[in-house]
Amino acid sequence: MPGFQSTVLTCIEHERLAFELLELRTRGRYLTRLRRVSRQEQAELDRREQAALSRLVDHELEHGCSR
Ligand SMILES: [Zn+2]
Repeated sequence: MPGFQSTVLTCIEHERLAFELLELRTRGRYLTRLRRVSRQEQAELDRREQAALSRLVDHELEHGCSR
């Protein structure tokens, strides 16, 4: 892990992961509003959202950049 400059600056990787999670949530919500999603599709959406969330949490723990 190079440098500690991110303690002052906004962590770009954190931003990226947070955005990714938000995008997945938004897309999932949009999709379920647009049409009926199957149970399988819903499970897949949930799984992706959980994966994105755990990536974000893991990054925060590893990097110590949570706000
Ligand atoms: Zn970070």
